[in-house]
Amino acid sequence: MTTCSRLMLCASFAALQLVGSSALAQPAPAAPAPAAPRAAAPVTVKEVAPCVYMAVGGGGNSTFQATRNGVTLVDTKNMGEDQYKALLDAIKTVTPKKVVFVFDTHHHADHTGNNEFFEKDGAKVIGQGSMVEVLKTYTSTLAPHTPASPKAVFQTRYTVRLGGQTAIAYHWRGGHTGNDAVIYFPEARVVAGGDLLDMRVPNYDAPFGGSLLGYSQSLGDILKLDFTVAVPGHGDDPWTKDQVKAYKDKIDALIERASALIKAGTPKEKFIDTINAETGLAWKLGGQFWAPMPRLDALYAELSKAPGATR
Ligand SMILES: [Zn+2]
Repeated sequence: MTTCSRLMLCASFAALQLVGSSALAQPAPAAPAPAAPRAAAPVTVKEVAPCVYMAVGGGGNSTFQATRNGVTLVDTKNMGEDQYKALLDAIKTVTPKKVVFVFDTHHHADHTGNNEFFEKDGAKVIGQGSMVEVLKTYTSTLAPHTPASPKAVFQTRYTVRLGGQTAIAYHWRGGHTGNDAVIYFPEARVVAGGDLLDMRVPNYDAPFGGSLLGYSQSLGDILKLDFTVAVPGHGDDPWTKDQVKAYKDKIDALIERASALIKAGTPKEKFIDTINAETGLAWKLGGQFWAPMPRLDALYAELSKAPGATR
């Protein structure tokens, strides 16, 4: 099996490989979600492999595969009925089929915001098991209420088949969060990495089970998969396998340097400034992902215990 039913489904849409859906969002007057934190953003669709697409805008990136029997979708964007409709409209630019399966890459509201709408529409929403507990109390400035929990859960691996195509969710360990799932489309050789792939800075959510060492180790597991295209959780373009490898290398360099600074007794209050003064490291750390002390506490704890554990 080389591709999905490209001729059946996709040929007539070939000209729509790069489509902004702002022009497709005419149903917008429908009742807006009360207290929605932000207006729906346009969703842009990019074909990254035959019949596999990334949908950019309105939250974290979504990935979807169009098959003759329906759509397998990864991540549901920021909460809000208008944003849900913008995502559906984007999917409709390449296939008339319904969304059958939805995978969540993790619990954050910019990736799970519209789980509820897809569940109501009959899709099976699937997530790593520890999401359920987290979503009992999770709140986010991105969402007026807690995102709906997945109805189907797994611990380490979950496989679906649809229209002759396979999607496999893997959970290896905590990395970006404690409930990370990486979704692999083996026939298309595409992997959706969620926020394990984010060029801005390596973003581990320590209060929710994230770990910088785990982040690197999970990138190592992603690299063991046979893929040519990786869809990041944020950013406008897909990544090559070489880009994933380079990204892991940068994180490992950061871990190595951070471990040395911690071993040398660098106080937490000076850590960010010290590491940002380094030359040769890829990121300037700070802001919402690195400044909060719980993340530094977790970093010190794990790098003090297990320096060099990325190998
Ligand atoms: Zn996230």
